[in-house]
Amino acid sequence: MPLTRQDCVDLDAADPLAGVRGMFELPEGLIYLDGNSLGALPRSVKPRMQAVVEHQWGADLIASWNNHDWIGLPVRVGAKIARLIGAHADEVIAADSTSVNLFKLAAAALRLNAPRRVILSEAGNFPTDLYILQGLADLLGPAVELRIVEPEQVAGALTEEVALLLLTHVHFRSGRLHDMAALTAAAHAVGALTLWDLSHSAGVLGLQLGRDRADFAVGCGYKYLNGGPGAPAFLYAARRHHDAMRLPLTGWMGHAAPFDFEDGYRPAPGLRQGLVGTPPILSMAALDAALDVFEGLSMADVRRKSQSLTGLFLRLVEERCDGFGLDPACPADQDVRGGQASLRHPEGYALVQALIAAGVVGDFRAPDVLRFGFAPLYVRHADVWDAVDRLREILAAETWREPRFQTRRAVT
Ligand SMILES: *Cc1c(COP(=O)(O)O)cnc(C)c1O
Repeated sequence: MPLTRQDCVDLDAADPLAGVRGMFELPEGLIYLDGNSLGALPRSVKPRMQAVVEHQWGADLIASWNNHDWIGLPVRVGAKIARLIGAHADEVIAADSTSVNLFKLAAAALRLNAPRRVILSEAGNFPTDLYILQGLADLLGPAVELRIVEPEQVAGALTEEVALLLLTHVHFRSGRLHDMAALTAAAHAVGALTLWDLSHSAGVLGLQLGRDRADFAVGCGYKYLNGGPGAPAFLYAARRHHDAMRLPLTGWMGHAAPFDFEDGYRPAPGLRQGLVGTPPILSMAALDAALDVFEGLSMADVRRKSQSLTGLFLRLVEERCDGFGLDPACPADQDVRGGQASLRHPEGYALVQALIAAGVVGDFRAPDVLRFGFAPLYVRHADVWDAVDRLREILAAETWREPRFQTRRAVT
């Protein structure tokens, strides 16, 4: 039997996370399916920003570094993220951007595993991951060799030459989920280390970095963690590497005693070495407040709802948008699918623009992928129904042909 809107409403009524949506500010009537690019605004952020700007920066000025523990914020935020990814509190720290953290940890891993010099990654990985590796290879010359293989060849390419395997856990375009435990075990079996990019995983999957024996990881603060545009990213290093690892960006905030003002660099113990310069306190405070939304939530519930939403979307597209040239571009099996659903259509860009005009925000990833992120904290099953309903109307009426939907803007 085809699903009805009432079936979706019933699913929402039984949803243990239904109450969480009220913790977000969302424009009335908008269906926001882009929380995998920029998470929605948690209500806790505005009062926190007000307090930090007015009372801390405005009134207490420099004393705030101590009195409001600004200096400890990267560690405290890291500990909140650690809980969501199955890591110990001291294994995660908030700092810099995902791109910069990739550089820091790839270089550190390479050094830990010298004289091996091969970094293995997959073709079609998120561009910044590959670009950062290319920059590292340019810098280090013959000390690095990049080996970029097709996704299905990764396991087979793990040889005793490989120093580091760098993979994005959930693929940004297809939503395909790598088996972290299996690939990490395979890497360890040949003596390679692993660096996981969790940009599309943290805050939406029940990650278990400790159990899965991941060595290093990075992730994004502004996607499912809802930290706001350009929010600080995070880095993870397993405790077993803390003593031996050396990160290459040796700024004063990663020094053992920044306020001793010594001439020589000495790394801070543990992961505080992962800090480089002065942390962006306003952004860090926004991320800190945003993470409180996760307090008391079970990540297993979050993952279950995410699978329910993406599964519902794919089923409704199949039932209601048949014959319009849309093809799934993500795995059908929910166990290897992340928090998003992707579709392929030759007019993907125009379709996404027409959907946005109809109040359904997804995004487009070249060359032909329509991408929809279902942030389980604030997207409802009824929203999925309404989104597919509007998609069907646009396909049937061919609204996407309108010239205003055809012009590519800078950010897609
Ligand atoms: C979003 C994303 C990033 C973002 O990197 P920035 O440094 O924040 O621009 C990195 N990697 C992946 C896989 C992403 O999806």
